[in-house]
Amino acid sequence: MCGTMKTEETDILVIGAGPAGLIAARRAAEREADVVVLEEHEEVGQPCHCAGLLSLKGLERLGIPADGPYVQNKVKGAHFFSPSGLSFTIEKNEPVACVVDRGLFDKFLAKKTTEAGARIILNKEVKSIERGEREVTIQTEKERFNAKIVIDAEGVSSRIIKALGLKPIDRDLVLPGLQYDLGNVSIDPRYVEVHTGRKIVPGFFAWVIPLSENIVRVGLGCKGANPKELLEEFVRRRFGDENILVRGDVRSGLIITSGSINRTFDDRFLVVGDAAGQVKPTTGGGVILGGICASLAGETAAEAVACEDCSALFLSLYENLWKDELSKDFRTMLLARRVMNRLSDRALDKLFNIVIKENLQEFFSAEGDMDFQSNVLLRLLRKKEILGVLPSFLRALIPF
Ligand SMILES: Cc1cc2nc3c(=O)[nH]c(=O)nc-3n(C[C@H](O)[C@H](O)[C@H](O)COP(=O)(O)OP(=O)(O)OC[C@H]3O[C@@H](n4cnc5c(N)ncnc54)[C@H](O)[C@@H]3O)c2cc1C
Repeated sequence: MCGTMKTEETDILVIGAGPAGLIAARRAAEREADVVVLEEHEEVGQPCHCAGLLSLKGLERLGIPADGPYVQNKVKGAHFFSPSGLSFTIEKNEPVACVVDRGLFDKFLAKKTTEAGARIILNKEVKSIERGEREVTIQTEKERFNAKIVIDAEGVSSRIIKALGLKPIDRDLVLPGLQYDLGNVSIDPRYVEVHTGRKIVPGFFAWVIPLSENIVRVGLGCKGANPKELLEEFVRRRFGDENILVRGDVRSGLIITSGSINRTFDDRFLVVGDAAGQVKPTTGGGVILGGICASLAGETAAEAVACEDCSALFLSLYENLWKDELSKDFRTMLLARRVMNRLSDRALDKLFNIVIKENLQEFFSAEGDMDFQSNVLLRLLRKKEILGVLPSFLRALIPF
């Protein structure tokens, strides 16, 4: 069977046409590498699992326009709600984020990637990977590809990374998520909502993301509970059960809160995006930070090909670059997620009380950054009022 298989040669083969794979492929192709992207689905951007909330700063950093046809709305802030309904608002004067249709967003990225010279081949599931001295061999159902370097952008599934013996993301910290769009509601379209509390959503939070004054994307992630039942209950509590209209599909997906994996390179191999856990553990958002890492991976891989050195030593440059820029943020966000997960609803309410009493929302509004959260989080966690709410074992985790 293998003997009759068609074999294609390429410099760089990318597994997965999600945002991380497409961004890595585009960057490598822009640097003259021969790049092939293999995607198992028949359409880029489908099925869609994402809420699509992306910071404007992050998009700018990635060189992605914030006014493309995929943009559904722009928001300037967020209302946060405690278990008992206390709330505060963090906001800027101008929009800080946009809500995108991820299907259209990914298709836009695919177009740019193709224009840069990469080839995206759909309906091609990578079934196996084998690393040799001089190349990596990838097999799909009917074809074989030999590549100098493989970039693994397979998302949360971790099949490829496991096949190569690297340590994947910690499955205990991957949570089921569920969301849908609702019509016939009434909402201020400039603010998203974040609802916390063990009773409402154990282990994570619920979100309401406005698409307009009448349409919202509502969803949640949770641990150890049934997301469908929790979401139905949340929607009933937040919007009442009259006249609410579910628009389109109910979408499920896996939210990564584990932080990044330790090693993201090997001989002729790089890992990017969700597959590498390059996702904010506080919010589960992975498009921007995963995209930044993917850019670095694409650039490093193209350089390795040009220098004819695809060794682990050369490719470790990628990990040094992304860790220099992001590892402090990933570590701090993971710490904040751990703290949040261990707080009782009473302690969470106390925390909200302190934020409101001390007017800390002003500090968040002035200093906060949707993606690079470590600065604000560390300053917050070190405040004596906040420390007072935390049990001693959590206080011990905070670096001073
Ligand atoms: C409910 C939910 C809401 C979210 N909301 C947000 C949000 O608001 N903002 C945000 O930034 N992030 C959000 N995220 C996270 C975001 O969706 C991911 O971080 C992002 O999609 C990661 O991109 P990726 O390219 O690494 O992986 P993916 O987007 O998962 O892409 C991986 C691709 O690889 C393909 N693939 C996998 N295995 C193979 C194989 N063997 N052969 C060929 N192809 C393969 C898959 O089909 C897929 O297309 C959310 C996630 C969930 C679950």
